[in-house]
Amino acid sequence: MFFRAFIMQHEDLVQVVFYALILVSLWLTEKFIGVLTPGQKLSRTLLNGRFIFTALPIQLALTIFVIMIVKWVNLHHWGLINFVPFHRNLWINYIVLFLLMDLGEYLYHVTMHKLDPLWRFHLVHHSDLHVDVSTTLREHPVETGIRTCFLMLWVFLFGAGIAVLMIRQVFQSLFNILAHTEFRLPERFATVLGWVFITPNLHHVHHHHELPYTDRNYGDVLSIWDRLFGTYQELDESQTKFGIDTHLDPNINGRFTNILLMPFRPLNRKH
Ligand SMILES: [Zn+2]
Ligand SMILES: [Zn+2]
Repeated sequence: MFFRAFIMQHEDLVQVVFYALILVSLWLTEKFIGVLTPGQKLSRTLLNGRFIFTALPIQLALTIFVIMIVKWVNLHHWGLINFVPFHRNLWINYIVLFLLMDLGEYLYHVTMHKLDPLWRFHLVHHSDLHVDVSTTLREHPVETGIRTCFLMLWVFLFGAGIAVLMIRQVFQSLFNILAHTEFRLPERFATVLGWVFITPNLHHVHHHHELPYTDRNYGDVLSIWDRLFGTYQELDESQTKFGIDTHLDPNINGRFTNILLMPFRPLNRKH
């Protein structure tokens, strides 16, 4: 009883501990059976881990506005969901909103790639020369802001409730961490799972250093949008090389200050 009450009261804390446990256990697994030396692993973790401290204040500050918009749309029965037949049925409501929000994340990701001013910030995530769980954290603070603003837009347009947002948060975080793990799933299992979901195998293709692969598999949790809009792609592990072709210099993409300044330097990529 006490345990349940504690979880209810400290839901945020429970979530943070939950993700931290998953991150740490995957990190340890990668450390012991992954391809990197302990030194490489540590320096990558220390570098990408610093992005927690730039993302957290922005994320926390903007979440207040997300919650305000959620409350407003629910109070005024605003958003696309209100036009969906039987939307008062909890299952229909949650499933439709989950799909719409996932489509929103797909469109956000495509936008980050296709508009040069936004790509400058998103390329920070792509500039990692290796992909492991620490890559999950590698996001320019400006992108953290843009991502949360897009979230506000989707909540406003679709009329998402707080419960759906929390369910999505769990799925999104899990899929994001797993998509960046160094390990690939066995091919046959990955193919079946990839009919509907984004697997590490599919997200690794997105981190391949060259076009057109960088512009494939934009999906967040579901791969159905990539299949629907023709951006689905598979690539063999042996042919996958991580990074981004315009930023392969480890002196630039391996130093925290240089990474933060990366969006403000000349861009040599055509879209
Ligand atoms: Zn991307
Ligand atoms: Zn990624």
